[in-house]
Parts: sequence; structure tokens; C-alpha cells
Amino acid sequence: NLKDRSILITGGAGFIGSNFIPLFLQNNPGVKLVNLDLLTYAGNLENLEQVNAHPDYTFVKGDICDRELVREVFQKYKITGVINFAAESHVDNSIAGPEVFIRTNVNGTFTLLDVAYRYWMDSPFSPKKGQEENRFHHISTDEVYGSLGEKGYFTERTPYAPNSPYSASKASSDMLVRSYRHTYGLNTLITNCSNNYGPRQHQEKLIPTIIRKALAGEAIPIYGDGKNVRDWLYVKDHCRAIDLVFKQGRPGEVYNIGGDAEKNNISIAKLICEHLDKKQPKASGSYKDQIEFVQDRPGHDRRYAIDASKIKKELGWKARESFDSGILKTIDWYLALNNETINSKQ
Ligand code: NAD
Repeated sequence: NLKDRSILITGGAGFIGSNFIPLFLQNNPGVKLVNLDLLTYAGNLENLEQVNAHPDYTFVKGDICDRELVREVFQKYKITGVINFAAESHVDNSIAGPEVFIRTNVNGTFTLLDVAYRYWMDSPFSPKKGQEENRFHHISTDEVYGSLGEKGYFTERTPYAPNSPYSASKASSDMLVRSYRHTYGLNTLITNCSNNYGPRQHQEKLIPTIIRKALAGEAIPIYGDGKNVRDWLYVKDHCRAIDLVFKQGRPGEVYNIGGDAEKNNISIAKLICEHLDKKQPKASGSYKDQIEFVQDRPGHDRRYAIDASKIKKELGWKARESFDSGILKTIDWYLALNNETINSKQ
């Protein structure tokens, strides 16, 4: 009887988690969720306004590194599954101050794994007892694979070669998850996804920065020559993939998730400016005039691209939004937010 049991979401007040929670509650009626989030600078409970009163949703403020608290949460809410979003997630911050990345991303994931394993060992749902209900799904990134040349794609078999403290901390956490599968038989899943964009992303990230700076009439900073390439995926497509992998992924497997949408930074900035020129024209000139190249990020990876054929073939997932449709939805969301903020100040 799963009725009085819950799934633990960590970091659910951040960008991807807060898009995932409403979608999961809608797709899985009757399944209870507990969201454990430390509410760092990146977590915001306003992101979850639409689910706060939902009968199957509970929020707990706390740190995934706090073993006592994590154990209490497992016991109190009879946790049967974990989806671990909680992380320090911004590469630039990891260059300025890597320590907290090791703490949360490495030690925090270890604490969750270890508490889950010990709690589930004795549970009637333990994989050791021939059942697969207990699932530990770790949310990771394509950055663990390092940088590509002009050709080629990351597959699930690409060797890890992380280049920033952020990607190294995520790679370390992936390795710990792998070890809990191989050593203890924990029912694990890892998904490595490309760059997400969409509503509720923290303003420090590339696309929110471009929109925010453009609308504020300030310089839009683009690193180096602007030619660094990332694969981009609309956040809700990522969330649908997580829902699917969590429920149907094969135990112990890794799935890459991507949008088949490779874009370089300067082309994204120009595209957003063109849309803004139409939607909210400036008194004179184009938003493009505000683009400014700035000194490159140290160790900036040149190109990431994902081969997502495994999740497509095995689980029938595919992205619904193209970059063109997803970016329009994203711009509209930020425009509505911006106009709301301006109105509330008047
Ligand atoms: P985010 O920075 O927007 O949110 C992170 C959340 O984790 C915040 O709510 C924060 O308060 C919480 N948190 C941080 N430290 C914590 C701790 N010690 N204990 C409990 N909660 C803590 O990040 P995001 O963009 O939503 O990313 C979520 C996950 O997805 C991360 O693991 C990230 O590595 C991964 N990921 C992100 C992207 C992307 O493009 N954003 C792409 C692939 C993978």
C-alpha cells in the first residue's frame, strides 16, 4: 500500500524542481510528495505558489547534508523514492567559490544515498527483497562529459571529463550513485540533461540575463566570441522525461536527455533581441545594440551536444517544444513578470 508513503523531492524550490512538482502531481494523482529544500539564494517558495495548498504536497525546509534531518524525513513520511534536484548549479559561482559545490553536490548526494540505502534495507519495498519500488533518481548534467569538438555527441557511454568545479562535483555525485547501485544494489537512475530554459529560471543564468538586461536597457554580456555551443531543452520537456524515467527507467541505468537544439550564445542573444524588438519595441534602435562581448569564463567548454536516442527508443520520450516555440513561451513569461513588477512599483 503506497497510500501513506511519499516520494522525496530535493531542491524543489529551484528552477527545474518547481517546474517538475506541479507536473508530477498532475500526472500522478494520489502520490504524495515531500519537498526538502534549504532555500538558498536559488530557492524561492513563490515558485511553488500553485501547489502550496495541494493535499499531496508538503514542504520541509532543510539541508540534504543534514543526516539527522534526512533520516527523520524518511521515517516521518515513509519515503519510497527520491528525486534529487538539490544542488549548487551555476558554473560561474563554482569558479568563484567551489567549496559549497562539493558540500551540497557531493556530500549532500552521499548523505541522501546512504540514508536511503539504510532506511530501505529494512523496508518491505527493498530491491534486495526482489521488489523495485524504492527508486533513487539523481538529476545530473551533460557537463560531466567535458567539451566536444565541432562534431560528435555525448552518449551514455562517453567517458567522464568534467572541466569546472561545478561539473566535477556533479560527476562525483554521479559516481557515488553508481557505486550504491553496484555495491549495495540500490535501485538507482541517473539522467544527464543538457541546458534547460523556461519559466522560473534564476536570473543569473544566460537566457534570463539576456532578457533582463535587454529590458532594463543595460549591456547584454556575452562571454568571449559568443560561439560556445550548448544543446537547449525547454524545462517542461525535461520534467516530462524525469517523470517517465522515474517510473519506467530500468534500474541502474543512465539516460541522456537533450533537445536536439544546438545553439551558440550569440545567436541566442540575437534571436531574443529580435523577438523583443517585435513584442516590446524600444523608442529607437534594436535591443541588439546592447550586446557586449566580455572576457571569457575561465576554462569555458566549447561545445556540448546530446545523443538522446536511448530515452527516445526505450521510453518513447521526445521533446515537444522546438527551441523556437520554447523561447517564445519563455520570453512571454519574463515579459509578463517584468510588466507585473513595473506595475506594482507604480
Ligand atoms: P537551481 O539552482 O535553480 O535550484 C537548486 C535548488 O536546490 C534550490 O531550490 C536550492 O535552494 C536547493 N538547494 C541547494 N543546496 C541545497 C541543500 N544543501 N539542501 C537542500 N536544498 C538545497 O537549480 P536547477 O537549475 O533547478 O537544477 C536542478 C538540478 O538539475 C541540479 O542538480 C542541476 O545540476 C541539474 N541540471 C540543471 C540543468 C540546467 O540547465 N539548469 C541542466 C541539467 C541538469
